[in-house]
Amino acid sequence: MTTTTTPTTVWPPKTEPQEKRDVWTAMGRGLRGRCPRCGEGKLFRAFLKTADHCSVCEQDFSHHRADDLPAYLVIVIVGHIVVPIALSVETNYAPSMLLQLAIYLPITLGMSLLLLQPVKGAVVGLQWAFRMHGFDEDPPDNIPAV
Ligand SMILES: [Zn+2]
Repeated sequence: MTTTTTPTTVWPPKTEPQEKRDVWTAMGRGLRGRCPRCGEGKLFRAFLKTADHCSVCEQDFSHHRADDLPAYLVIVIVGHIVVPIALSVETNYAPSMLLQLAIYLPITLGMSLLLLQPVKGAVVGLQWAFRMHGFDEDPPDNIPAV
């Protein structure tokens, strides 16, 4: 007894190849807080809140799923700057702990706050360029939209 199965994918795809999106351009625009598609409209409506859509090209930003990645990246970046400096200063000069805390804590906080929005913008730009999470206007038929 044989069973027949229906194919779930069709190869080659029926649709034309999609336009390639430049990752670095999209990330650069997101880094500057601009729409990854047109580079003109604002990406954020508040410090870390993305706008619903671009005011210039109407690109929908609700598909992004940056989640905690920007915070993790900021921790990595700031940590790789502050920790070597702190280790070097401690090794060579050994200033008092109070003085070190008075210097490193504001620097760490300030750098983190300055980097959070640009890094989140770059992550949204990356997701847009790779057509992730609904940024694909023409997804394959067999993949359900999220
Ligand atoms: Zn736009």
